[in-house]
Amino acid sequence: MSLTEPTLDQQPSYNQANAKLHLDRSSPKNHAVKWSKNAMPRMENSDGANQEVDVTIVGGGPTGLMAGFLLQNLGISVSILDAKKESLRLGGADALNARTQQYLEVAGLLHQLKPSGITCDTICTFSDGVLTSRQNDWWTSLQHVVHKNFLILGQPELERVLSHKINDGVQYDEKVTSVIEHDDKVHIMCASGRRMCSKYVIGADGAKSTVRSSIGATYTGTNPEMLWAVIDAIVDTNLEPKQEMMLFQLQGRTCVMMIPRERGRSRFYVLLDGEVTQRNAEEAIQKHIAPFWIKFKEVEWYSSFPVKERIASTFISRSGSGRVFLAGDAAHVHSFNGGQGLNAGVEDAYSLAWRLAMVLNKSHPLKQSTLNVLLRSYDTERRPTVQNIIDVAAALVRHCESDARDFVATVRRNAGYITGMGVCYKGINSPLVTTSHHGIWKAGSRCPDVELVTAPGGKNTTLYSEVAYGTWVSDDDSFLVLVRPDMYIAFAGSDVANCERSLRSWLLDQ
Ligand SMILES: Cc1cc2nc3c(=O)[nH]c(=O)nc-3n(C[C@H](O)[C@H](O)[C@H](O)COP(=O)(O)OP(=O)(O)OC[C@H]3O[C@@H](n4cnc5c(N)ncnc54)[C@H](O)[C@@H]3O)c2cc1C
Repeated sequence: MSLTEPTLDQQPSYNQANAKLHLDRSSPKNHAVKWSKNAMPRMENSDGANQEVDVTIVGGGPTGLMAGFLLQNLGISVSILDAKKESLRLGGADALNARTQQYLEVAGLLHQLKPSGITCDTICTFSDGVLTSRQNDWWTSLQHVVHKNFLILGQPELERVLSHKINDGVQYDEKVTSVIEHDDKVHIMCASGRRMCSKYVIGADGAKSTVRSSIGATYTGTNPEMLWAVIDAIVDTNLEPKQEMMLFQLQGRTCVMMIPRERGRSRFYVLLDGEVTQRNAEEAIQKHIAPFWIKFKEVEWYSSFPVKERIASTFISRSGSGRVFLAGDAAHVHSFNGGQGLNAGVEDAYSLAWRLAMVLNKSHPLKQSTLNVLLRSYDTERRPTVQNIIDVAAALVRHCESDARDFVATVRRNAGYITGMGVCYKGINSPLVTTSHHGIWKAGSRCPDVELVTAPGGKNTTLYSEVAYGTWVSDDDSFLVLVRPDMYIAFAGSDVANCERSLRSWLLDQ
């Protein structure tokens, strides 16, 4: 068949029983993470006006940066515009889940980020000063995953590394004011007067997205009327151990959460009854932690934020057939509980970049109608997934009004979303998933990270550390496994004719 030509990056063979693949190292590994200067946006005027690129990304937060990084590595010209004056220095998200770590590994970034963070897999709960539970089984029981924990790492560090990788290519102080879509291109106008023209636009411009308004998408949901305070601080305390997430329940309510942070910091989330101020938040923390004591030596960042739960009515303009895509907070927001916001945005970027690159790189025989189906499937897959993520975060934030152990039970029930490992594109009419499975290989689910066995004497490795983002991976030793560029399985089984029929129906017969 002739997409056929999903690039078969390597031809591993595997042993189903112990889930090991045998890696043929005869072909050199294409670790696609290469920076191409040719992918830099071309400036046609020295004043920056009338710039033309393949993809304009509005918003240089984690979602926009990740999309830009992945696209540029796939040879697509990209420009990232951000309204803020400079990159984020403090605050933001603090936890990368297991799936995000896998994505970063495939993108060739994890080794650089990991040393700056700390790992954490345990939640303990205290009730009126007494330790009532300590649990992590939803992490330890994960199968075929190397990183069974959160990597606690501040959003500014992720943004710094991504920004560096794209040669500091974000153009700051560029507030996008209008987005006008035509049949064959999109025009963007900035407050500075800069004008962009590109084939596609990604709106990664956060919860108040201008891009979302421009495509007429609604942004609806619920508003649980909760205002949280958040503090990043260096503290002195006699609480031990310090490398676990801790929930503090007082008189039946669980309004304080303490999370260990890199660089010896701690993060606190506090739900206050009265006025939301830093002082009141610190006092509430001290009350909840008692009889242990805590002193705030240096507060690095304090903020407060209301919980909102919203999802855009479509993630693609023109009811799914347009050139403007929404990703990250521009497409969905929810409470911080479960730490899924940044992770969901990174997953959107991961899901979108290879699709856009496939459409823009014309080195395949696919018809435009097929490519339209490919692009539309971004909305088909991501919108229901994100709705589930919103629902999980909604359940978690409401448990703050009750027993801390209820919160942990909800974490356990929904661990698939919190770890990121349970996201599945089966059963949602995705044309990129052919209902099938073979042992641990299940179409629609994440590709298991299995051990790769090299030739005798060689050092074994793992699949995710060898695969490069943007390539299809397949193996047809005794049955066929076809893995998409975003590391979800498209097909697994011995009924190869069925796989061919299904792929052909959307690839070639559109
Ligand atoms: C206190 C706190 C803790 C959190 N903890 C976690 C956590 O532990 N784990 C987790 O996964 N998530 C967490 N989140 C959520 C996470 O921070 C967000 O989901 C994430 O930042 C979304 O990334 P984004 O790139 O989609 O949007 P943003 O980070 O909001 O970035 C949007 C960018 O677009 C720019 N922009 C906006 N309008 C325009 C315009 N008109 N023109 C040009 N640029 C524009 C903005 O300047 C901004 O840089 C937390 C959030 C907060 C506030």
